[in-house]
Amino acid sequence: MSKVQGRLRIAVQKSGRLAERSLDLVRDAGLRVMKGANDLLYRVENYPIDLLRVRDDDIPTFVADGVCDLGVVGENVLEEARNGGPQAEILMPLGFGKCTLKVATPPSLDYAGPASLEDRRIATSYPRILKRWLESRGVSADIVTMRGAVEVAPRLKLAHAICDLVSTGATLEANGLIAQETVFDSQAVLIRSPQAPEPELQHLLDSIIERMSGVVASQG
Ligand code: ATP
Ligand code: ZN
Repeated sequence: MSKVQGRLRIAVQKSGRLAERSLDLVRDAGLRVMKGANDLLYRVENYPIDLLRVRDDDIPTFVADGVCDLGVVGENVLEEARNGGPQAEILMPLGFGKCTLKVATPPSLDYAGPASLEDRRIATSYPRILKRWLESRGVSADIVTMRGAVEVAPRLKLAHAICDLVSTGATLEANGLIAQETVFDSQAVLIRSPQAPEPELQHLLDSIIERMSGVVASQG
């Protein structure tokens, strides 16, 4: 996707748990968002800025590559996207989208710490974060990557345990699973591209970041 010259781009989740709060942040920072002719791009009326509305999974790459200058994404998604290449920089946590990536097990698995996962199959949508965590605990296990419905994997005998995002714990409970380990604590973060914007947009970028940080601080 090529950039329109002379405009900044902010990547936000199109729909989902972060979508509304991301738009609120942009609006509270003083940007008047206009729905565009297409769904993918919203224009900001009072500044040369566009909002790119995409799947959250695409946000880290867009920002890392400089296709977007800023982005709002869950730190879990950013962490999972880490691949050794140029990376988006976290500017600040935003105080919403809080959740925790946890290992959970069915009662049938006699859990007594990470070693109980040795040689077991664990289903997750976050294979890289889980792999790093298992390595840090010296455990070797099979990771099964699932895009969704991770919490039903033990019941279907697809896996012995899961590693999934939890906020209230209601989903785990509804599926008879017990939270055992915290793998990653997450919330939405504002990220910035390692690629500098066009020089004439640098000042605008700095001032937008400044205002967003004011908004977040005022929500304490
Ligand atoms: P997309 O269509 O954009 O790919 P998605 O289905 O991957 O959406 P959502 O379910 O909307 O994602 O969640 C977006 C983010 O919200 C998560 O990556 C996480 O950072 C955060 N979040 C907060 N609470 C939860 C929760 N209970 N379960 C899942 N994600 C949560
Ligand atoms: Zn997603």
